[in-house]
Amino acid sequence: MKRLFLVFSFIFLLSSCDNSSTNSNLRLYVFDCGSIKFQDISNFGLSNNATQVRELFVPCYLIEHKKGRLLWDAGLPLDIVGKGVITVRPGIEQLYKVSLLEQLQSLAVHPDEIDFIAMSHMHSDHVGAAERFTQSTLLIQEEEFEAAFTNVSNFPVFDISNYQELENNKRVTLTGNFDVFGDGSVIIISAPGHTPGHQVLLLRLKNYGPILLSGDLYHFVKSRELQAIPAFNTDAEKTLESMKKIEKIINTEEATLWIEHNLELAKSLNLAPAYYD
Ligand SMILES: [Zn+2]
Repeated sequence: MKRLFLVFSFIFLLSSCDNSSTNSNLRLYVFDCGSIKFQDISNFGLSNNATQVRELFVPCYLIEHKKGRLLWDAGLPLDIVGKGVITVRPGIEQLYKVSLLEQLQSLAVHPDEIDFIAMSHMHSDHVGAAERFTQSTLLIQEEEFEAAFTNVSNFPVFDISNYQELENNKRVTLTGNFDVFGDGSVIIISAPGHTPGHQVLLLRLKNYGPILLSGDLYHFVKSRELQAIPAFNTDAEKTLESMKKIEKIINTEEATLWIEHNLELAKSLNLAPAYYD
């Protein structure tokens, strides 16, 4: 009788584990999608004395969930891949060694197998490979779509030639936060200001814990300390509100913030094919 009880207890334990760990299969892969070097960082709302950092990392991320795959941010333009250090403007250099597509290939993932694609925003260092994901459903805030596609002539920070084809993708137009897989493990959070529909990503990883991918809410660690607003920012007031909102979420969730462009952080991370879960 006692043994029977133990067997039942064990089965119950197994089944309850299965029900509660909705995020147990969640994986986050980080890819090197280039880097950018600046001689002068005053465009980021920082004095050149504020930090010694002059180089930004450009990441792409793949999120694997049992219900599908999400690509978050699509890196620098693919046409600079393998060309060494490119001077894009005086004082600004970019480098992109191995394309995102090739890196995905090493995981045996084809672009057509990515169910969703979402960019933190539509600036050129976040949309590089986006047009290659023609089968993915685009998750974009209504304000971002309006500014980056419909009304782009009023938004010189966007270059539609970098991502125009995305207009043909299936699309879910968002008006705020969005639970991508419906179980609370992958949530797009609206954080407007840097661009009209800027967004960040909250992942509730089982082993690593909650993690927040910043988009360009902050570019440098110093930007967070000083609440620095870049010159190429759409709406300073909304950006400050978003910073407040996101800091509150980081506190409540006890989440780790990954400032996406932070090169020092990137150097400490295990890039794909390694993953965080
Ligand atoms: Zn950026």
